[in-house]
Amino acid sequence: MFRLGITGSIGSGKTTVSRCFESKGARLSISDDLAREILFSDPSTMDELIQYFGNKILDENGKLDRQNLADVAFTDPDNQSILNKILHPRVRVETRELMNTAEQEGVQLFVVDAPLIFEAGLDKELNAVLVVTASDDLRQQRVLDRSGISAADFARRDALQLSQDEKCKRADYIIENDSSLEALVAEVDRIQLEILERIRSE
Ligand code: ATP
Repeated sequence: MFRLGITGSIGSGKTTVSRCFESKGARLSISDDLAREILFSDPSTMDELIQYFGNKILDENGKLDRQNLADVAFTDPDNQSILNKILHPRVRVETRELMNTAEQEGVQLFVVDAPLIFEAGLDKELNAVLVVTASDDLRQQRVLDRSGISAADFARRDALQLSQDEKCKRADYIIENDSSLEALVAEVDRIQLEILERIRSE
C-alpha cells in the first residue's frame, strides 16, 4: 500500500485535494477530524488538557469549548507545542490503526491529510508527501470566507507553521492551487497517475 501525505499551509486547499483523491478511490484519513474525535471522546486527553491549560478551555457546563481551546493554543507557540504533544501521539496511533486496517483490506493508496506532517515527523512513515500551495492573499481570503476567523487569527496560526517554502523544499509532489477548482482536479489527476505508475514499477 502506498502511503501519501497531503499537507500545506492554512487554506491552501489540502482537504479539497484529499477529498479528490478519496473520490478517485483512495482511503482517506483526515488528522484534524481524528484530533477532534479524540478531544471530545478521550477522558485522558481532557484531563491532560485541563492540567496544562486550566478550566478556561471549558464552557459553562464543564465541557470542552473548542473556541476557548483555540484561543489558548493558537496565540502562543509554547501552548501550541503543548497541545501538539498531547494530541499528536494519539492521532498517530489512530492513523497507524487505520493504515493497518486498510492494508489488510487490500487498499492501494492511503492518503493522510495533516497540516503538520513535517513538523510532527510523520513524513518518515509515508512513501511520499504532496504539498498544496496558494498565495498568502488567496489562502487568507478562502479561510476568512469559510470560517469567519479574523485576519489577525489567520496570521497568528499561519506563523506557527513551517513556511510554504520550507514545506515545498521537503515535498515529493507540489500542487499550486492558485487557479480554479477544475484546474485543481486536473492536477490531482496528473499526480495520481504518476503515483499509480510508481506503485506499478516498485
Ligand atoms: P485548513 O488549513 O483551514 O484546514 P485546507 O488547506 O484544508 O484548509 P481547504 O479546506 O481544502 O483548505 O480549502 C479552503 C477553502 O478554499 C475551502 O472553502 C475550499 O472549498 C476553497 N478552495 C480550495 N481550493 C479552491 C480553488 N481552487 N478555487 C476556489 N476555492 C477553493
